Amino acid sequence: MADFYPSYPPSLNPQQEEYLLSNAKDYSIAHGLAVRPPTSDALKAQDPAGLLATTAPITLFPSLFPKVCFDQAKSVAQAYNELYSGIASDEGWLTGIVEELAQIDDFMAGLWKVHQAVKSEGYAQSLDLGLFRSDYMVHLDKSSGASQPSVKQVEFNTIASSFGGLSTRVSELHQFLNSIDAYPEEISSIVNSSTLPANSSSPSLALGLAKAHEAYGPSSKQLPTCVIFLVQDPERNVFDQRHIEYNLNKTHNIRTFRLPFDRVLQDTKLDDGRKLIYTPPSMPTRHFEVTVVYFRAGYAPSEYTSEAHWSGRLHLERSAAIKCPSVLTQLAGTKKVQQVLATPHSPHLARFLSDPSTASSILSTFAPIYPLDSTSPAGKDARALATDPETAARYVLKPQREGGGNNIYRRNIPAFLDSLPESHWPAYILMEMIEPPAQRNAILRFGATAEEGSPSSSVQTGGVICELGIYGVCLWERPTTTTTAAASTNGGRVGDDAPPRPILRENFEAGYLLRTKGDQSEEGGVAAGFGSVDSPCLV
Ligand code: ADP
Ligand code: MG
Ligand code: MG
Repeated sequence: MADFYPSYPPSLNPQQEEYLLSNAKDYSIAHGLAVRPPTSDALKAQDPAGLLATTAPITLFPSLFPKVCFDQAKSVAQAYNELYSGIASDEGWLTGIVEELAQIDDFMAGLWKVHQAVKSEGYAQSLDLGLFRSDYMVHLDKSSGASQPSVKQVEFNTIASSFGGLSTRVSELHQFLNSIDAYPEEISSIVNSSTLPANSSSPSLALGLAKAHEAYGPSSKQLPTCVIFLVQDPERNVFDQRHIEYNLNKTHNIRTFRLPFDRVLQDTKLDDGRKLIYTPPSMPTRHFEVTVVYFRAGYAPSEYTSEAHWSGRLHLERSAAIKCPSVLTQLAGTKKVQQVLATPHSPHLARFLSDPSTASSILSTFAPIYPLDSTSPAGKDARALATDPETAARYVLKPQREGGGNNIYRRNIPAFLDSLPESHWPAYILMEMIEPPAQRNAILRFGATAEEGSPSSSVQTGGVICELGIYGVCLWERPTTTTTAAASTNGGRVGDDAPPRPILRENFEAGYLLRTKGDQSEEGGVAAGFGSVDSPCLV
């Protein structure tokens, strides 16, 4: 893109820069495009009540993004919802994958155990809610000369897909800056109201929760109802979540409460029908029936520091509340599942997507991903690629983890594998690095970056790359019968057994997120201190 638009973004004189920056800073805080500051002893002393908030890491300009890629990513959102609701409903198919992982990955084993326990008793809720996010980067096929850019999927998220609340606001920020001429005249043919797309992520995710709340129905005990946001405590990215809460409150008249993952067992009870009853610590005489538990926590092993955390997770899974996500849906989002789906010539996509053109549009978004087992031909090839520093330089190694900061990149892969017993290698997948074109932008951030270590604020200008996420809302009814011995994930042919299909109640695309990071950084996590929230200028 930089090749086509060498002068983007334009350099600003000091007066222009001051105008842009002061407007960006004030708009952000005025509209809740904000995060809590990183905790440091110095800040704690100044702000014992925790009142401070700062501008979220943002780009000052919208990044250039190919319109064909944006449209392509949006066009497959509903198909991805169908695919992942299908996987989460096909317990037999997932069993083959998860049981293998569970042997070498304690976190996978813990989640599987929760599912098994609830399955043996019978699930009290047949509805499942997914607030998904499918992440992509732009891929240029260098081998085929002048071909169009396309998107390749970085990963698919089925739990705690974040930034939908802030993303709507950064799109609006860039639109606002454009409307007040904070962007110089010379780029008005590139940045204008027709190239900055609207972004419904915040209201759309709230709508998804509202639809699930409505589908749950009223309390059979005449209790007031509520949606629970299951959260980490402390949470710096709290406003991202609050925007969705406030939308539920204002637009849908739905009560929400924030429940720290630590407090599940203290603050909730199951009644005899396994209805989840929440008693707010601030109102000990009042009880609410929980319709939906929205997980913004519980996705990382570091959150399960005691057996009580696992008991809490089991308690929620047993309940009649609709889980967003259920354990099976969380497991459907593992990197291993993404690798199995991407296996060339596999029957898996056709298993879940009956329409061949839908399946092929999904297939075209996959980058090459390999298993690391010692027996399959693909696994043996991948082992050879990953252990040679020359070839490893084109790959990223991923464990079955979420939330950023878990991957091993490029030339670090061989030494990492060397330090790991070979029997544990299959807990990882090897993925080809997507190499999106770099461009320039300016990132405004306050707070400790991974590199700096201490809080400070700055504008950093330089080469950046972008990752586009498309949100999807899917509410489905799980089929009542699950296959027990389904087609194996390796040898199963389509038609060997009909997969149990979910009944889709809601399936819609739900806005987007553009995250932008320095082109020298491998990781992209905004919360983890690597990236920034951006919006696309479609070119
Ligand atoms: P997580 O679930 O922890 O977010 P990801 O698979 O999204 O894991 O990886 C984290 C980051 O690593 C991504 O946001 C992206 O910046 C980078 N990354 C992951 N896979 C690739 C890839 N195939 N090509 C380029 N970058 C990647
Ligand atoms: Mg990611
Ligand atoms: Mg993820």
